Amino acid sequence: MIDVGIIGAGPAGLSAAIYVQRAGKKAVCFEALTVGGQIVNTPEIANYPGIKKTSGFEFSMGLYEQATELGAEVVYEKVVAIEQKNDNKVLRTEAGKEYECHAVIIATGAKNRHLGLDKEEELTGKGVSYCATCDGAFFKGKDVVVNGGGNTALEDALFLTNYCNKVYIIHRRDAFRGEPQNLEAVKNKDNIEFVLNSTVVELKGDTALEAVVAKDKNTGETREIPASGLFIAIGQEPDNNAFINVADLDKAGYVSADESCKTKTEGIFVAGDCRTKAVRQLTTAASDGAVAALAACSYIDIA
Ligand code: NAP
Repeated sequence: MIDVGIIGAGPAGLSAAIYVQRAGKKAVCFEALTVGGQIVNTPEIANYPGIKKTSGFEFSMGLYEQATELGAEVVYEKVVAIEQKNDNKVLRTEAGKEYECHAVIIATGAKNRHLGLDKEEELTGKGVSYCATCDGAFFKGKDVVVNGGGNTALEDALFLTNYCNKVYIIHRRDAFRGEPQNLEAVKNKDNIEFVLNSTVVELKGDTALEAVVAKDKNTGETREIPASGLFIAIGQEPDNNAFINVADLDKAGYVSADESCKTKTEGIFVAGDCRTKAVRQLTTAASDGAVAALAACSYIDIA
């Protein structure tokens, strides 16, 4: 029997695990991929209070070590269902196993949004990538494209200038969601070219990516940009459909819950990017982790 089963070992899940363990209870995180979640792929974090600058990988490893040294465990299995069993919850995993828990925290984060283009899946790993930190070094001396206008796209573009000959940023607007500091740094790079008000409409290449076709939304004109790499950084989407029997989802698929992190089911909480919220940042993920963990612990004490 697990006190608190935490679905996801990203910043929200691991923060929750730290708080559960420090409250004297047992936390087990269930992780389908790697610990750290998406932040692992961020080259530089410079807005987490108290840490001037670190990488996403270092940050994640620090969280993981802190949680496991306190006694939390990570089980590398994908949770595919949550079921009620008397007053407890059962987590079913893809591996066909069952884990009974007193309380559950859903901290599944979000997955990379895809463009949905022909050849996108086929060319993934053959030029198309969702992670500049992981794959950037493969494109030394090459021309590459980054698609998106958020912090991820801007930071990816900056990171890629360390390796690549030229970096194009294709963005569907001429205003950026990313922070002004990041945008300024990008503008100061000689080897970055903006292709604005444009969307990626076609990928060319059979065995590997050869070119990206961008369409100008205002003129309708298309431009073929020869490139060996395309880094898609157009945000994230939630992945919560497995939990609709125990939690309400909003229109976009995020788990509906307010700052209390409580779902519609007693004993099931939600934390981090997978929750309905206005600001999705490391700080808000960590904050949710703490709130959900303490709520789960008092639920267990009262039940
Ligand atoms: P984001 O902020 O949601 O930005 C996504 C970008 O992709 C937007 O520019 C959006 O355009 C564009 N986009 C969305 N769907 C698209 C589509 N179908 N086709 C073309 N373009 C599309 O995502 P993100 O950059 O991954 O950042 C996610 C969160 O993590 C943000 O809160 C961000 O600040 C944070 N983050 C922080 C750091 C850091 O602190 N170091 C690093 C990375 C990310 P529109 O603007 O037109 O909607």
